[in-house]
Amino acid sequence: MCGIVGYIGRKREELQDIILDGLRKLEYRGYDSWGIALVSNPSVAVKKYVGAISEATLRFDDGVNAHAAIGHTRWATHGGVCEANAHPHLDCTGNIAIVHNGIIENYAELRRRLERKGHEFSSDTDSEVVAHLIEENMKAGMSFGMAFREAIRELKGSYAIIAAHGGSKALLCARKDSPLVIGMADHGHFICSDPVAFLEHTKKAIFLDDHEMGVVTENGVWIIDLERDVLKKKNPIIIEWDVSRAEKQGYPHFMEKEIMEQEDTILKAVMQPEKVIEKAARMLNEAYGVFFVACGSSYYAALASSYIFSKVAKKHINVVDASEFKYYEHFITPKTLVVAISQSGETADVLDAVKTAKKKKARIMAITNVMGSTLMRMADFTILMNCGPEICVVATKSFTAQLAILETLAYATVQKAKEVRKAYEDLVPHIRDVLSPGNRNFLDGLAERMVEKHHIFCIGRGISHAMALEAALKIKEVTYIHAEGFAGGALKHGNIALIEKGTPCIVFAPEDETHDEIVSNAMEVKSRGGWIIGIGSRRHEVFDEFIKVPHTEIGNAILSILPVQYLAYRIAVLRGYDPDKPRNLAKSVTVK
Ligand code: GLU
Repeated sequence: MCGIVGYIGRKREELQDIILDGLRKLEYRGYDSWGIALVSNPSVAVKKYVGAISEATLRFDDGVNAHAAIGHTRWATHGGVCEANAHPHLDCTGNIAIVHNGIIENYAELRRRLERKGHEFSSDTDSEVVAHLIEENMKAGMSFGMAFREAIRELKGSYAIIAAHGGSKALLCARKDSPLVIGMADHGHFICSDPVAFLEHTKKAIFLDDHEMGVVTENGVWIIDLERDVLKKKNPIIIEWDVSRAEKQGYPHFMEKEIMEQEDTILKAVMQPEKVIEKAARMLNEAYGVFFVACGSSYYAALASSYIFSKVAKKHINVVDASEFKYYEHFITPKTLVVAISQSGETADVLDAVKTAKKKKARIMAITNVMGSTLMRMADFTILMNCGPEICVVATKSFTAQLAILETLAYATVQKAKEVRKAYEDLVPHIRDVLSPGNRNFLDGLAERMVEKHHIFCIGRGISHAMALEAALKIKEVTYIHAEGFAGGALKHGNIALIEKGTPCIVFAPEDETHDEIVSNAMEVKSRGGWIIGIGSRRHEVFDEFIKVPHTEIGNAILSILPVQYLAYRIAVLRGYDPDKPRNLAKSVTVK
């Protein structure tokens, strides 16, 4: 979480705009407060603000002489949301500035030690100790570079850090368990949490690994392996993302844009090179015990696919929330395959699960959207989701891309990869149809009638059980209306007590083996006053409202979630919330 950006290069006149623009692109990572430091010789000038960055403008009167800048958009972990706690943080001299993403676990003890030596702190954050540690080391006679390196060695926890010093022509950075990538443009260098922040300047990037330090100047980049204390050669990779994907392109919100992009992204996710799918299918077939580990929407995509694996491939998949995976480590052997699913490839809980699995020598397959991400670098084999940057905090196109890939894999394990490809090609017109202007118009009207509701329930059976869970998550995340998803059969075991007159209940009723039973469950809800919104290909008298989605053998669950994504989006907008930045949430959850 939180986004950091640094730039050092020839575009000195545009420094403020470059950093501000980079922060706007990273705002999905955190947006409670933000700040920028301009680095000139010998001093550093800092401005910090509470609130969202989107519409903000900023002007440093004395910014023209600066040769570098760093910025931060925060998702607070230690210390409340206020200007003093916003980054960048300075040392006592005001010449050293740092930005930090992560949690310094031993900050209290470091702070006590530094305070005893006379350092004065201006914030309640864990991060500020880094600036003072560097200062202390420099007071002892070390160069900025040495002082930074020694400071990093003292830190416990997770961090991506950039440090600047007024007297230095370099920006320094280091990481452990939080992402950091260096962008190499013709006019200079960037250091960022995510390449989207510099994509419009360059697609050439070096991803830092844990325990690596970067020394970045206008003309060069050096990487130091901090464990072995040696310079390390790392070749840049090219990030094949379309820059325009990170722009709103006329849509009022990224959420709507990303929902609408799914007519392209779902097929792109399926159209993997044949060799990739063959290898993944082989890994799944050879494994003795398969775990899918993921969090949030990715977890629901994994859960949905486990029904497909069961039906199509007669294969049992253990689907585990990544944060719980370590408690299953007793079952992991070198023959286990762990399929780790994360849009960003930086989700701390997923990376932690992968570390646990690797200790047990299990094989790791990654499904991620971000080329070069930590997950990709940790995995034995990776399938890229190819859906372009997802900027809205809540998952839409990444969820359907993951589900499409997992469904493809289920079929591929029984040599039916071609069949599934063809079925997804045929799915595209249906995706367009479900999201057509006429259908969206109907959903707009439905949203208006749901806007004042206090509870929304979602039910489904089989694969639609996972869709019900995802639907409820989407509604909660952006509308703040209490929503819950259940297996249709689970209702009568207690949850039905919550149904009152007019309570909306979204019922996933596809034309499959679950249809009749879920309709009976809908009847049970209706008998207690529930307002039934059915989703399926066939209208039934129990439905008060009906969202029609065509029936398909393959990809049907995907079709059924699209209208709910749009419905959640519309309710959020009608309630006056920004769906791209839901409160308390941030994308790419890089803290545990
Ligand atoms: N722990 C730091 C803070 O609370 C950084 C949080 C983050 O990664 O967003 O300021």
